[in-house]
Amino acid sequence: MYFSTHLVAGAAVGKIVGSPSLAVLLGLGTHLVMDMLPHHDYKHIINGIIDFIVGFSILSYLYWTSGNIVLLFGAIAATIPDVEVVISRFRNKRIKYFPSHTGFVPHGRAISPWGIYTQIIFIILMLVVLSH
Ligand SMILES: [Zn+2]
Repeated sequence: MYFSTHLVAGAAVGKIVGSPSLAVLLGLGTHLVMDMLPHHDYKHIINGIIDFIVGFSILSYLYWTSGNIVLLFGAIAATIPDVEVVISRFRNKRIKYFPSHTGFVPHGRAISPWGIYTQIIFIILMLVVLSH
């Protein structure tokens, strides 16, 4: 699942719960659950770079306009598990511990364009939630 998709889910959870520790716990939980849903994962590093820039811009905007630091806790917790995916790609070696990356829990797959459209729609919906 895309960085931006995980990020907005974690930010929304952080905003809703209002507690940093709960935001971290539930942010990690959103990553696990969302990785189980059918979704598209990109294969090329340039798409990851674009996704990171988009996600970081969204997070900066959300924090800048709200001043709510708890949404940062949720967003970071929801995205941090994919750091091991990035490291694995760069080292060309399978180094994965998060349950939805190891196969301990199923990892959903959907082909494009539906796996892309659903994530874009989800991001827009979460931005609506976060703007209120
Ligand atoms: Zn993941």
